[in-house]
Order: sequence, then C-alpha cells, then structure tokens
Amino acid sequence: MSTFVEVFGTEPDGVWQAPGRVNLIGEHTDYNDGLVLPIALPNRMVVTASARDDGTFAVASTVLDGVVEFSLDSLQPGSVEDWAAYPAGAAWILREAGYEIGGANLLVDSDIPFGAGLSSSAALLCATLVALLGLRDIEVDPAEVARLAQRAENQYVGAPVGLMDQMASMCCTEGHALYFDIRAMTTDQIPFDPAADGLGLLVIDVKAPHRHADGEYAARRQSCEEAAAQLGVPALRAVEFDRLDDALARLSDDVVRRRVRHVVTEIRRVEDAVELMRAGRLREVGPLFTGSHVSMRDDFEITVPELDVAVDTALAAGALGARMTGGGFGGCIIALVEETAEDQVFAAVEKAFAEHGFTPPTSLAATPSPGASRLS
Ligand code: ADP
Ligand code: MG
Repeated sequence: MSTFVEVFGTEPDGVWQAPGRVNLIGEHTDYNDGLVLPIALPNRMVVTASARDDGTFAVASTVLDGVVEFSLDSLQPGSVEDWAAYPAGAAWILREAGYEIGGANLLVDSDIPFGAGLSSSAALLCATLVALLGLRDIEVDPAEVARLAQRAENQYVGAPVGLMDQMASMCCTEGHALYFDIRAMTTDQIPFDPAADGLGLLVIDVKAPHRHADGEYAARRQSCEEAAAQLGVPALRAVEFDRLDDALARLSDDVVRRRVRHVVTEIRRVEDAVELMRAGRLREVGPLFTGSHVSMRDDFEITVPELDVAVDTALAAGALGARMTGGGFGGCIIALVEETAEDQVFAAVEKAFAEHGFTPPTSLAATPSPGASRLS
C-alpha cells in the first residue's frame, strides 16, 4: 500500500474519516416517508488530503491502481466515471452549492467491504466532503453535509439513493442508533450498546451477487407509489398501523397489498424497537428483527436463498433475532446474539453455506461507532 507522500510527493494537511453503516431495522421505508434506525460501523473510509490552489483534483485509492485527475471548472455529471465519480461528485456538489474549495490531492483508504450493502459509497462521499471542507476550514452542519452527499450520488453518480446512509455516516454517535424520521426530517440518538448487555451484533456478508437489484428496487418503489395513489395519501407512512386492514381491503392487487403490508408493519417494528431500546430491553428487539425478515421474505420479496439460509441458520444456532439488512437481493444479514454465542452462530452459517454450495460468508462485529470526523 502506497503512502500519501509516495503517491503525491507532498505532505498531507489532514486526515478525515466517515463510517459505513448498517440499518438495524426499517427496510424500504425511507422512500415511503417512513422511519429508519441505522448505526455507524467501526469500518470506515479514511481520506488523507492536501490542499492545492490550481483548481485541480488528484485522487487515488489504496485498493486501486493509478491517480485520477480532474479540474473543478470542467466538472459536470458524467465527466468523471468509475470510482473517481464519487470524489468528483463531492467536489462538483460543493462547487454547485457555492463553496470555495480550490483543488486537492486525496488518498482514499477503507476497510468497508464494497458492494456489500454497508454503504461504502455514502462513506466515500461523506469522507471526501468533510475533507474538502476541512482543508478550507469551512464549517457545515453534519446533516447538511449528508444532504450534499445524497445530491452528489443522485445527480453526479446517477444512483437514486435516499438519505439514510449519508445521515448515518455523518450523524451517528458511539453507543447509539440514529432514529431518523424521514417525513419529519428529525433525528434522535437511541441508546444501543449491545456489548454493555453482554450481547453482540453480528454482520454477515452473504457474498451473493446483487441479482437484478436495480430493476427490482425500482419495481418496489413503483408499487408503493401506486398504492399510495390508490389510497389517496402522499406516501405509505400515512397509512396507520391500526387501520392497515381497511387500507389493504381498498387495494385491488394482491402483490401490491403485500408490499403495503410490509411497509406499514415495518414502520411499526421500528417504533417498537426504539421503545424497547429506550427501556433498555435489548434482547426483546431480537424477535422484531426476525419479524422484519419474514416480512421482507414473504411480503416484500426481496430476499435470496443465501439471505434466508443465513437468517434461519443464525436463529437455529441461538441468535435472539436475525434479518437481512439493506436493499435486498444480496448484501448482509444482521444477527443479535449473546456475546458468548457469536462464534458458534457464525460457524453454523459457514457450515450451512458450505452444505448449500454457496460462496463462504464473512463476518464483522458491528460496534455502534461515531460518525464522520477529522482524525488529524
Ligand atoms: P455499497 O455502497 O453498498 O458499498 P455501491 O455500489 O453503492 O456499494 O458503492 C461501491 C462503489 O464505491 C465501488 O464500486 C467504488 O466505485 C466505490 N468505492 C468503495 N470503496 C472504495 C475504495 N476503497 N476505493 C475506491 N472506491 C471505492
Ligand atoms: Mg452504496
């Protein structure tokens, strides 16, 4: 791995980090004006940077070859492709928003597996944004940085992502989950410290390729929008859990009905999880995780065999609860486990994967970690 000085021939001015995230519960609720509950991971994107005043950016990644250069003036959506589209998008959105950022050399280093649904993309954008702002001593509210990161990913990279990942990367705090209400645009820090209760949160990457994920995501969004239109509400958040049966009876299509049932019950599960966490009853959150998985498997239909096998096996091996997390069709599961059972749960999943002929899974321990910051 090359150092900053080896790549750019100058000393860095500072180092910034932004973490990946995992969502505890609240899946496919964001574009329904719903509720989500992510934590920041200890795995993070680290950006080492030096300022330059020639309006040029040079970016390199420790896991990829070469240095990509672009000038601030010539940036427009699509002008820089592949991985460098993320730092280019960060520079572009800051220019669009009127910040004077000059130019910079940036070296990106990360221990967030990418493409696993742990949001390396949002972490890369957030880390680049805080580095570029930090180099110029410009202070911006973390939630505003998150919105800039989202706009960069939507408009520059061209990915129709919501705001959860960026908010998690910017606003999470150690030992807490971030309760983010998308309709109200409010956040709350919810105590979540599994280790303090003798528990662990295991993240298992099931290494399944994201089959048709983009098309399926668009289809799910469309079903939700159609249902909201049929019900005469701005978004499915407006459907009350206690009146769900009435709403379902008014929908003509059975598939759409099941999609709605997932969204409405999932929003309720987020509220229930938050209540339990506030009351310090962490173990009881487990069954909500499992209920969420069942809902995504049967009603929202976004799981794949690897995710279902991982969840079923984790539960059979003693997990208190388990669910797929992220957009679905691959990615990761999370399992809430007694600390003493962490190894046995992961070993059981490894064994089951071998028996099914799946790619071996990997795991990481998800300690609720702080959001983006300057490291030096
Ligand atoms: P996810 O956000 O779930 O990890 P995405 O497909 O949204 O997956 O984003 C992954 C992309 O982010 C990669 O394809 C790459 O372009 C970029 N990326 C992630 N980590 C790095 C890294 N360490 N160096 C360079 N680019 C990275
Ligand atoms: Mg991403």
